[in-house]
Amino acid sequence: MSLLVVGSVAFDAIESPYGKVDRIIGGAATYFAIAASFFSPVNLVGIVGDDFSAKDAAIFKGRKIDTAGLERAAGKSFFWSGKYSQHLNERETLITDLNVFADFNPKLPEKFRKSSHVFLANIAPDLQRSVLKQVQGKSKLVALDTMNYWIERTPFELRETLKHVDILMINDSETRQLSNEHNLLLAARHIFKMGPSTLVVKRGEYGAMIVDKRGVFCVPAFPLEEPHDPTGAGDSFAGGFMGYLAGCGSSNDAALRRAMVYGSVLGSYAVEEFGPERLRKLKRSEIESRARHFLKLTQFKL
Ligand code: AMP
Repeated sequence: MSLLVVGSVAFDAIESPYGKVDRIIGGAATYFAIAASFFSPVNLVGIVGDDFSAKDAAIFKGRKIDTAGLERAAGKSFFWSGKYSQHLNERETLITDLNVFADFNPKLPEKFRKSSHVFLANIAPDLQRSVLKQVQGKSKLVALDTMNYWIERTPFELRETLKHVDILMINDSETRQLSNEHNLLLAARHIFKMGPSTLVVKRGEYGAMIVDKRGVFCVPAFPLEEPHDPTGAGDSFAGGFMGYLAGCGSSNDAALRRAMVYGSVLGSYAVEEFGPERLRKLKRSEIESRARHFLKLTQFKL
């Protein structure tokens, strides 16, 4: 089994009540790849500029991440800057500079075309579709993330792409916006008509919910006293979730439930420090220990 991700590899500037960083490695595919690589080999597809040094690229070294699909182009890497409110529950995007991402035309290395699992991180829906077309094999499991920007500006392209997706992983406000339904269960029913058979709703400090034809399963967010930076939490969740599924080679109900817990574990570690710093230091034993903690958090007797 192998897991392909396409998405942004970036430099971020982040400000939260806990501090400020002017330039730190970020990008949805970066968080996803690091989180997923604890469970499964990851094939990374993206683009960086010539400002992305060998020292920066070291973030992917020593992990099961194949960067043969990380293109290097003349110019600057994608840059994003955001500022969080006092309780970290609101975020303002200050700058989005697409830079080399503007002309990105992903071409998959031959060895990536047989990936069994695919995660289309938050990028333009037509780029997501062009990547998907290059992956062979009908039995692949495809998950997609998107955001209000694409829901509003490219609704037709997004609808086209969603027809080829198994699992849609978005947050609650995006779910409501895409479906025009406030109730998340009714929203899921609406979204199933668009193509995906499974909806994963990321709900920040309220945890996450998965809905499919078998029913609903919810996990809480891990209670933390001092989260520092929520950037990339959703992508780390997705990495833990898809990495676990690719690693165990199953997507039955039990596997999906465990994937939800591993997603929450990775998301919870990601917010403990700025940027991907906590994920960089994370050990597999810490993942297992927090997964056991989730079991304690949610177990009860009737
Ligand atoms: P999240 O906190 O899950 O929204 O992910 C944050 C990461 O997504 C940051 O590291 C950014 O570099 C990246 N990002 C922000 N906006 C975009 C965008 N429009 N397209 C692709 N990646 C983005």
